[in-house]
Amino acid sequence: MEMNAAVLREVAKPLTIERVEIGALKPRDVLVRLGASGLCHTDLEVMLGSLQLPLPIVLGHEGAGVVEAVGGEVTLVRPGDHVVCSWSPNCGHCFYCDQGQPILCEAVVAAAASGHLPDGQSRLRVSGEKLHHFSVVSSHAEYCVVPEAGAVPVPRELPFDRACLIGCGVMTGVGAVVRCARVSPGSSVVVVGCGAVGLNVLQGARFANARTIIAVDISDRHLAMAPGFGATQTIHAAREDVTAAVRALTGGRGADYAFEAAGNEASLQQALEAARPGATVVILGKTSVNAKVSLRFGSLMGEKRIVRSSYGGARPRVDFPRIARAYLAGQLRLDELITQRLALGDINAGFEGMQRGEVTRAVVVF
Ligand SMILES: [Zn+2]
Ligand SMILES: [Zn+2]
Repeated sequence: MEMNAAVLREVAKPLTIERVEIGALKPRDVLVRLGASGLCHTDLEVMLGSLQLPLPIVLGHEGAGVVEAVGGEVTLVRPGDHVVCSWSPNCGHCFYCDQGQPILCEAVVAAAASGHLPDGQSRLRVSGEKLHHFSVVSSHAEYCVVPEAGAVPVPRELPFDRACLIGCGVMTGVGAVVRCARVSPGSSVVVVGCGAVGLNVLQGARFANARTIIAVDISDRHLAMAPGFGATQTIHAAREDVTAAVRALTGGRGADYAFEAAGNEASLQQALEAARPGATVVILGKTSVNAKVSLRFGSLMGEKRIVRSSYGGARPRVDFPRIARAYLAGQLRLDELITQRLALGDINAGFEGMQRGEVTRAVVVF
């Protein structure tokens, strides 16, 4: 069958909407008809070349939709199920899966790095030419083929434009709080960088019943959104001394938990300085993998636990439905994250807005 998909053929060039052929489903494949697909900074990194992957490729890794068809051996989902795609459909039996670190699954990491599904092949072609899959999802398209563990059922009441956000940004931010840091009730939290992921860290901290939740950013737009997501205080990092301001709000010690979600040297340093001795520091932000950062050595001292997380310690089949239910119960916000809805044909405009820092989440709606 054929579909429309957004294809990246060259770094630093716009995506092109092309007619793409989907190959026959393998026994463990699931074909998802997408309802919505969120635009994430990681897509942009590939478009700009700071994350290098084989081209041409169909980007998108934050998708939600309906299961259209399944391969003969699929048992986890059925046609008609509403699903959110996971970009970590771990195999369950490699070295890392056996260690209880499924986010590092060797099969999935290798597949994602080579731009294929876990069987090492692509299901996508244009006139016989192979297209690569992105993060085992490729959701900037009308359909995607994913391994069955990558199609995670969620309640039908959840609209697709909100559901898709769970697949990356929300899981990354909320998971960093509840899975990686295990923020305890009554504690103090500082979040440096309050874009899409940082806002989700804030609401994760509220969900975990943190008492003091401090948002730090240099964007007035982000800081204006932060209280709606749980921030009890905001600090403008260009106008205030972040370390002094955080200490003033935390009994002079610094925060119990510090999250870095901006992805630059200054934000990393601010998160480390704002963390009290003995604190947990979770690093979520990203910059070019070859970028070098220098840090004040003293800011690393004091028995701090420093954790790098890419997907909030996700256990998608447990966490996605849990996040969905929390949203439906009014405990987590998704509507306010969406600042732009687009047709697939307008997807480049969404990425341009992201580069200008104008959007929290732009979502392609099918
Ligand atoms: Zn993402
Ligand atoms: Zn594995």
